[in-house]
Amino acid sequence: MHCQDICKRKKTNLCCHECPEADSCPDCCGDCPEECGRSMAEGAETNLVAFTQQHMTLFQEIRSLVLEKKAAEAREKNLKDELKAAMEAHGIRAIDNDILKITYVPETVTHTLDTAKIKRKYPGLAEECSKETPKSSYIKIEVKER
Ligand code: SF4
Ligand code: SF4
Repeated sequence: MHCQDICKRKKTNLCCHECPEADSCPDCCGDCPEECGRSMAEGAETNLVAFTQQHMTLFQEIRSLVLEKKAAEAREKNLKDELKAAMEAHGIRAIDNDILKITYVPETVTHTLDTAKIKRKYPGLAEECSKETPKSSYIKIEVKER
């Protein structure tokens, strides 16, 4: 059994559950290989290397897009903050021109249910009022700094 993560101590993909040093290792993984979603059967390691090589262009494109999006979002936030401050300074509440429609939304307080508290104080009620919602599979991507 192999892991998708590389052990920093042994520099291998060995799953901790098959490591001879597991009993004494402070970094030993506490997860179960059947449920962790990171375990690979024998031979899958080679497939993973081939898959990585095959899809490297796709990885690079996604990385560039994520970084561009982050930069664009930061720029958008700065411009919006600047515009909001200018509207406040001039007492303007709405603008509607050929290219933009802007509405100033004043500060407000929202009220939401504290679901964690409800589950803690009224577990029966929380269980009774909970519902199952199917969710499509998806991938999570974390862009690493270089
Ligand atoms: S038990 Fe420790 S040394 Fe062995 S694979 Fe896991 S982290 Fe690495
Ligand atoms: S249990 Fe899963 S996450 Fe933990 S070392 Fe084994 S394969 Fe990796």
